[in-house]
Amino acid sequence: MRGLTSPLWPIHFKPLPDELLSSWLVRLAHSHGLKVQTFCNLIFGNRLQVWNRDIDRLAPDWLIRGLSDRTGAAIDQVMDTTLQSYQGIVYHRHRASGTLSWIQSLRLHHRKFEGFGLQFCPECLAQDKEPYFRKSWRVAFNTVCTIHNCMLNDRCPYCGHGVAFHRNDMRRNQYVTTVSLKECHYCGIDLSKSPTIRASHASSDVSIFLGNLSRKLQDGSLDQSEIDNLLIMHHFTKLIFTSNPTVKLYSHLCNIMDVDEIALDIKADIEGAGVETRHLVLQLIAYLMLDLGSSLREAIEAKAIRYNHLKRDFNDMPSWYMVVIGRFSNWRTRNLFI
Ligand SMILES: [Zn+2]
Ligand SMILES: [Zn+2]
Repeated sequence: MRGLTSPLWPIHFKPLPDELLSSWLVRLAHSHGLKVQTFCNLIFGNRLQVWNRDIDRLAPDWLIRGLSDRTGAAIDQVMDTTLQSYQGIVYHRHRASGTLSWIQSLRLHHRKFEGFGLQFCPECLAQDKEPYFRKSWRVAFNTVCTIHNCMLNDRCPYCGHGVAFHRNDMRRNQYVTTVSLKECHYCGIDLSKSPTIRASHASSDVSIFLGNLSRKLQDGSLDQSEIDNLLIMHHFTKLIFTSNPTVKLYSHLCNIMDVDEIALDIKADIEGAGVETRHLVLQLIAYLMLDLGSSLREAIEAKAIRYNHLKRDFNDMPSWYMVVIGRFSNWRTRNLFI
């Protein structure tokens, strides 16, 4: 296609608010009337493969630079569409493979997503002038749309497949300007027409606590104490998804909060769990966080957890958390209320 070799592409719109790199790239390809694979091969050549990795997490430099050069977007603006922009906020240690804290796994296998790593809000997709996917929809502690207060979906409600909009054009002929990201790549159904489920929370305090984290993540205003909270909350997810039979935190919290337990896959983690399970686990953890000292004391007294569990394998513990759990270091001999 003529024009694709010049520095700026003929169509070079910038990413929409909170848009994921992959969503932006697919929209750019379709706006030029090309399939995603054809477009990427024309720009980057056959040897530089774009889609054999989770590009939102592992965007290579040549892709970042290429998008910046061809769209006129600043490098920082391009980087901001990647999950790497969450480093130091949502996760702290970069890893090229394996799980990143709070970043949902796509479970990429032969260019197919076998996991449920990208969520969506049907109402957001329905209201978008140009449907697109948000970066914050890849984050495991987001289970509710902060605008519509409905549950996010993590799969097509009709065929059960995860979202993989970069594959939507595979069922079409060469010119694909009418392909929308909101179609399910597998069955073609319009995901914006998915049934909407109102979010329910264990309490209004829990709802406010979790909603605040989600909203501030989206507008980039999480402060250090909230970033610390996410670190602690992630440690609690590991104590909930554990195969250690002496840790009974999950059952204890379900019992205290009078909610039904969902069977957990203890070989999994929060990043690989479905949205319903994550939503329940987050309710339990928010309850813990709202009054950490008292709720941990309650769990220790119920023998659901021991002091060692609270610190084992927990790197980078916030100092105030160490103070809180320090009260339980020899709890049998000390007054816990001091
Ligand atoms: Zn929404
Ligand atoms: Zn489907």
